[in-house]
Amino acid sequence: MSLDNCARCGRIFFADKSDLCPGCEAEDEKKLWEIRAFLREEGPATMEEVHQKTGVSKDLILKFIQRGNISCLEPRETGEDDWREVF
Ligand SMILES: [Zn+2]
Repeated sequence: MSLDNCARCGRIFFADKSDLCPGCEAEDEKKLWEIRAFLREEGPATMEEVHQKTGVSKDLILKFIQRGNISCLEPRETGEDDWREVF
């Protein structure tokens, strides 16, 4: 554990496994729940659809996918932005 600056808001905090402070992590967590609620209602969706409907940035959606919070099927051959996510 070491002191670090939050990558988003710049606050100093004890960095554990995240580069975000607990406040920003909690915000992300809320967005993750919104995405999950959306996927539960609507079923699998493309990243674009998730972004449009929930207002969560694509960067953040990608982060959730990379962390394994939501999973993602292979990008379809038609285009790199045409991913379908499942939770
Ligand atoms: Zn922060």
